[in-house]
Amino acid sequence: MIFPVARRAIFSTVALFLGLGASLLAQQPFQFPTANHALYEIGNELKFFAPTAPDKPWTTGSFGCVRTDSRQMHEGLDIRCLQRDKHGEPVDPVMAAADGTVVYFSTKPSLSNYGNYIVVRHVIEGLEIYSLYAHLSEARPGLKMGQQVKAGEVIATMGRSSNTGETITKDRAHVHFELNVFVNEGFPGWYKKYFPSQRNDHGIWNGQNLDGLDPREILIAEHNPTAKFSLLNFLRGQTELCRVFVRATNFPYLKHYPMLVLSNPTAQREGVAGYEVALNYNGVAFALMPRAASEIRGQGRFQLLSVNEAEEKANPCRHLLIQRNDRWQLTDTGIRELELLTY
Ligand SMILES: [Zn+2]
Repeated sequence: MIFPVARRAIFSTVALFLGLGASLLAQQPFQFPTANHALYEIGNELKFFAPTAPDKPWTTGSFGCVRTDSRQMHEGLDIRCLQRDKHGEPVDPVMAAADGTVVYFSTKPSLSNYGNYIVVRHVIEGLEIYSLYAHLSEARPGLKMGQQVKAGEVIATMGRSSNTGETITKDRAHVHFELNVFVNEGFPGWYKKYFPSQRNDHGIWNGQNLDGLDPREILIAEHNPTAKFSLLNFLRGQTELCRVFVRATNFPYLKHYPMLVLSNPTAQREGVAGYEVALNYNGVAFALMPRAASEIRGQGRFQLLSVNEAEEKANPCRHLLIQRNDRWQLTDTGIRELELLTY
């Protein structure tokens, strides 16, 4: 009688495993935006990423401080083209990475280094996340702003559009793909204040108002069959570049991302006088601790409280901090970022 019991046990273990696999699969929030899924082929990264030049490493097409000897940020993934027409032009269908709403598309490539680009809003675990697809040749005919799209639904065709002097060559054809948090609907006012001589052609959908997370890390974490992926935990678990006190109590980010606001009984009791904000190296605010007046020293509107020097050394390319006479300070760029956060 031992045999049937053992067989049942094996069967139920297999069923459990399959069930678990299916449910993990169903929970993956993001899909690839094209048919190129070679990200997971270790050692074959050049099948997935389009580097900046044939002699440059694949990492120049990935997210982070990967450009100009690590001094320049690239805020998305450059995903290589798979399909071309008879002239060698890219024709890969570009698909929504998750269910969402088309919030913006720009069809005047001369107005952005993104060229033609589309922004889709997603709500995942209550978090607003915005995917962005750039250098498109065209949006899907008939696509409208405000339209709901499903994950995997074709929204555009890959292209080589951009307004930079250096054009994207045919062999480098790619979609530039971002996953972002949204910073502030007051962006147009902030932009006018800091860049008075420059036009803002894209309203709140300017790339500077979208702070990128690393889509490669997200897609790889989602792919791990042994750990359930949570976007919220991913965001909360960012490595801290620095912590800053901001003397502001009412700014839109708090309402957009209430799940990133921590609890502090003292501030709850005495009233909130400002927030201690943890920023990652790309300037993404991922933890906001309310502070009471009695907990704050100093008078400044923005006060740098601590710096993770190892992280600053590893990822300095947003130039948010500078060391002067052995003291860390916020740069003008860092202050501008905080102005935008709290505008
Ligand atoms: Zn790019």
